[in-house]
Amino acid sequence: MRSWVPPRPTCRSPYERRSGSPSPEAGEVGEAVARCAVDVVTVTWLGHSTIVLDVAGRRLVTDPLLARHNGPLRRRGPTPAAAAWAGTDVVLLSHLHHDHAELGSLRRLPDVPVLTGPANARWLRRKGLRGVGLHDEWYDAGDGVRVRLVDAVHHTRPMPHRPNDANGHLVTTPHGTIWFAGDTGLHAGMATLPDLADATSIDLALVPIGGWGPRLPAGHLGPEEAATACALARVRCAVPVHWGTLHFPVAQRFGSWMDDAAPAFREAVRRTAPDCRVLTLAPGGSAHVPLADGPVP
Ligand SMILES: [Zn+2]
Ligand SMILES: [Zn+2]
Repeated sequence: MRSWVPPRPTCRSPYERRSGSPSPEAGEVGEAVARCAVDVVTVTWLGHSTIVLDVAGRRLVTDPLLARHNGPLRRRGPTPAAAAWAGTDVVLLSHLHHDHAELGSLRRLPDVPVLTGPANARWLRRKGLRGVGLHDEWYDAGDGVRVRLVDAVHHTRPMPHRPNDANGHLVTTPHGTIWFAGDTGLHAGMATLPDLADATSIDLALVPIGGWGPRLPAGHLGPEEAATACALARVRCAVPVHWGTLHFPVAQRFGSWMDDAAPAFREAVRRTAPDCRVLTLAPGGSAHVPLADGPVP
């Protein structure tokens, strides 16, 4: 495994100072923040599938859940701080399941383009939001940042009251390539993601590894499948999401399922995708991740 470039003393982020509550992986977060490099993306995990990406002067937010709780699901960990998502330029929305598309949260980001599948975008526009439906074209987010949809296989739990388009997102920046997988099962198309970005690898992947209950339904990635996804997509650095955050009011009492996914994912990646580094964040925590111009963390 290659090493980080030496730390740069000027490379500090406001998010660093408000890192999330301690977790078993908190040391990793601090280590990563301290060892930032020149061309980095700042990754802030707000819990579940919500990630803030600060890259090339743009702020992108995935599947924003910004409230304390999510319908009947309770949140473990801190409520996302408004400063963490203020000034969002673009929202990347994977699908309309309620743990990914909460109207109250989306309305906290007024006039922000919400990039998602065409049917989802039409539905969002009917709700007064700025849904932008994409097929396979690139969306220019400015400052050299481009976004396109990529496949996700997630057809379980269809909703009669919302469209069921499901997708991931590929983001290219002047410094490297990012994949937000969304909710998906494994599929062969993951191996073509670097090609879609005209790259040899994915520099940073936001990969789901769990759920909001002890059992993971079909159409999701558990730790083993998520590691296989990282191998297929030739991922250099993976941040696990969709774990450890949401639960039904009593479900947290039954065993350690909320904490098991992250160590299982790290172990699976060691076996299945040894060239991939796993960066586990605490909810609210941030890290600087070098993209293509920096070495693998
Ligand atoms: Zn879903
Ligand atoms: Zn989900």
